[in-house]
Amino acid sequence: MSHDRFDVDEFTRCLDRAHAHAGAYLRALPQRHVGAQLGREELMAALRAPLPAHGEDAAAVLDLLAAQAPQGTSACASPRYFGFVIGGSYPVALAADWMVSAWDQNAGIHVISPLAAAAEEIAAQWLLELFDLPRESGVGFVTGCQMANFTCLAAARHGVLRQAGWDVETEGLYGAPRVHVVASAESHITIDVAMRYLGFGTRALHRVESDAQGRMLPGRLREVLETLEGPVIVCAQAGNVNTGAFDPLREIGEITRTHGAWLHVDGAFGLWARASESLRAAADGIELADSWATDAHKWLNVPYDCGVAIVRSAQDHRTAMTSVAAYLIQTGGLERDAVDWVPEFSRRARGVPVYATLRTLGRDGVAALVDRCCDRARRMAAALGAEPGVRILNDVVLNQVLVRFGDDDDITRAVVSGVQAEGTCWLSGTTWHGLGAMRISVSNWATSEDDAARSVDAILRVYRAVRAAK
Ligand SMILES: *Cc1c(COP(=O)(O)O)cnc(C)c1O
Repeated sequence: MSHDRFDVDEFTRCLDRAHAHAGAYLRALPQRHVGAQLGREELMAALRAPLPAHGEDAAAVLDLLAAQAPQGTSACASPRYFGFVIGGSYPVALAADWMVSAWDQNAGIHVISPLAAAAEEIAAQWLLELFDLPRESGVGFVTGCQMANFTCLAAARHGVLRQAGWDVETEGLYGAPRVHVVASAESHITIDVAMRYLGFGTRALHRVESDAQGRMLPGRLREVLETLEGPVIVCAQAGNVNTGAFDPLREIGEITRTHGAWLHVDGAFGLWARASESLRAAADGIELADSWATDAHKWLNVPYDCGVAIVRSAQDHRTAMTSVAAYLIQTGGLERDAVDWVPEFSRRARGVPVYATLRTLGRDGVAALVDRCCDRARRMAAALGAEPGVRILNDVVLNQVLVRFGDDDDITRAVVSGVQAEGTCWLSGTTWHGLGAMRISVSNWATSEDDAARSVDAILRVYRAVRAAK
């Protein structure tokens, strides 16, 4: 096999092989043990080799990787994977992502990939309509909500310092007016990380207390804002990563406006509630914010990775992100250069699977997806909560459920690890306000009532066994 000429047959040979392996992987997915069953030792033993001096057959290399996949991966796309907040992949989303790989586009600038630019421009508009956010907002497709939070907060940093007469892109933060950043006690860790990347540091975060569900207390926010002088950025949340709870966004929006502060909302999965008729009231007032971060790889069920940064002031967004260099052929017209909206320079056309998925599902398809996941979460909570000794710790307002067993941390931990080992479903644990809890997140498009019921049965079987052994 030669490695120095464009050989269509070799593409076909490799892709057919990958297609067959992927098909087998997906066919087994709904039945297989949901957790990963191989650890570092086994996988190193299977994969490690000296760097080959002369190279090996491509198909054999693909076979080697594929052989480890059923046990070396978690079945994240399984309808009974409830860990963290992780969606699966719609068939059309996966297929569109494959095409993106085949095209091998650097989707950073329009001149390289007019198709990627057009698809992302349209997908961006569709998302603004779906979430009912200001249609003139800037939108960037990034790797995940971490980078969406970063991008939005970079735009916020620009916006609040511009108002204070400071050009942060040129001058940096040395000598700049101090920017105060306010977040709730329950903000996601990626807000802290964004603070680090932006040069604010985590110590600069002012924390506002939250209530039993993890919602920011607006009265406390008002008090904190009254103590602050100068530029202020407030970070609120739509969808707490443990409880799914929404901060009282209308009240927070009104308070931040009164204070002339920038309001950013981390809506990694909660922003999708805006797509549902029955759930959108939970996010009431979210449109008062100045920026919104969300994920497509969670609830829209596109493959990893894809997050979305949305900023009301497209000007602030663009100024914070744009790159200008003499050799770049950037467009002066309507064409979209993705580099203007994201931290990445060269980048994958990750908006294309979003375009394909939204076009395939339509507005009612996305609404049904969100409603279905929340319905399964409520059913699981009700069925688990009916068992003596089992307590649901949160109000199940979205797709997240916190479960405590025997009112005991050790029993709860034993149930979590027992369920992981049993394999019908996979979920993880957390600590909620000092109490150990099992965490269930229903984010997969394909989770059926039967999947929910089978998973509840498995969880209760493990719980009864743990209780009996005590
Ligand atoms: C998952 C999550 C994030 C981080 O998103 P990534 O896609 O993992 O970068 C941020 N905030 C919340 C609330 C989340 O649930």
